[in-house]
Amino acid sequence: MPEQVTAVLLSQGDELTCGQTLDTNSSRLAAWLWGMGVTVRRIITAPDHRDDLTAIIDAAAGLADVVIGTGGLGPTRDDLTAEAAAAASGVDLALRPDALAQVQSRFDAMGRSMADTNRKQAILPVGCTVLENPNGTAPGFAINHRDCRLYFLPGPPHEMGPMFEALVAPDILARHHLTPPILVRIGVVMSESVLEKKLQGLDIPGLDTGALSVGFRASLTGNEVKLRLDPGVPAPVREALVSEIIDRLGSAVVGVGEIDSAAALGSRLAARGETLAVAESCTGGALAARLVALPGASRYFLEGATLYANAAKVRVCGVSPTDLEAHGAVSEVVARALAEGIRRTAGADWGIGITGITGPGGERPGKPVGTVHIAIAGPDGVTHRHRVHYGDRVRVIQRTVTATLMLALQRVRSASASPDSVESAPGQP
Ligand code: AMP
Ligand code: MG
Repeated sequence: MPEQVTAVLLSQGDELTCGQTLDTNSSRLAAWLWGMGVTVRRIITAPDHRDDLTAIIDAAAGLADVVIGTGGLGPTRDDLTAEAAAAASGVDLALRPDALAQVQSRFDAMGRSMADTNRKQAILPVGCTVLENPNGTAPGFAINHRDCRLYFLPGPPHEMGPMFEALVAPDILARHHLTPPILVRIGVVMSESVLEKKLQGLDIPGLDTGALSVGFRASLTGNEVKLRLDPGVPAPVREALVSEIIDRLGSAVVGVGEIDSAAALGSRLAARGETLAVAESCTGGALAARLVALPGASRYFLEGATLYANAAKVRVCGVSPTDLEAHGAVSEVVARALAEGIRRTAGADWGIGITGITGPGGERPGKPVGTVHIAIAGPDGVTHRHRVHYGDRVRVIQRTVTATLMLALQRVRSASASPDSVESAPGQP
């Protein structure tokens, strides 16, 4: 039976709590631990305050099997980790000759003489294990307290990272019977709240609910459903779970293991040997930029036109001036004409037209800021969607691009079906 091993991460330093330095150590450590099968129960950030640190270290040891602290091992007075760790575990501090030799050898390697203050970096809790730091002067250390193994590493990311990998991870693996979880990532374009609702009460025969945890990761370019499964879950149960989720999320799914809708669209087009051209008004080339950022885009992407002024829409895509006058540039007719026009002039299999109002000004009666019309013209006709996206200009543009990519992906996937049978992705991307 794999053990349930828990961890608390402690990032310390005034620079973190003053907002000068972003705590990247915790997120890297959490991702490493997650992959090893260790559950992180808390991530704590604390300033350089000895009594607070002592209390936090003591409490963390009572909460988890493993504590990893970073920072506070420097030579200056505000680096208090060794003092706090000794106080929490009720031992004294003493100069460790082996640690001092390590500090000295770093200075020798740099051809510099060691200042007296650096001796402080070798004053550590009695009985600790010294952890060598090949990339800096401050050694780390490990102690045991309250049935917990506590590791303290220096703050600089390029120092703590290699020490975690070389010394801490192997020590955790040697002390515990861990089995890494199975991770399934499903790309999806759907708001988190809708996702949450759709995934409630997943009841798969043979699946113990304790063996599954479902997480979400949201970004402007789409969301991700992350399934973390105990390694003991049999493959057929895993497959049943994934297909149940795909059924529930419907056409909003980008793919299993496919997170980026642009990449998913690109690979479908490449596989079909088909080409694409886009005519963008309000997104100003953002869709084209997403597509050409992908390696191999030249296999399917023919051209992108940014057609901002009405005259440009007329000249390049043959949009009718009468339609522009009657319906306005932000309208279904114009989006359709852009898609068909660019498809025709580029000689592409697929054409995309986008027109909308990104704000903050420019709204019209019945057309609030965020209104967009998207059209996809393909070999079997034109599909159109009307959306109202919230957010500032940049967000409206990104959400429009994502919605367009999803609509195009759905169209290309079901290219043999009739265009208007294509289901619309629910919720905002
Ligand atoms: P220290 O070991 O406390 O002397 O930390 C030295 C330096 O490491 C700090 O000045 C920061 O630049 C960096 N650092 C400390 N903690 C973190 C952290 N949690 N994430 C990223 N960088 C950090
Ligand atoms: Mg510090």
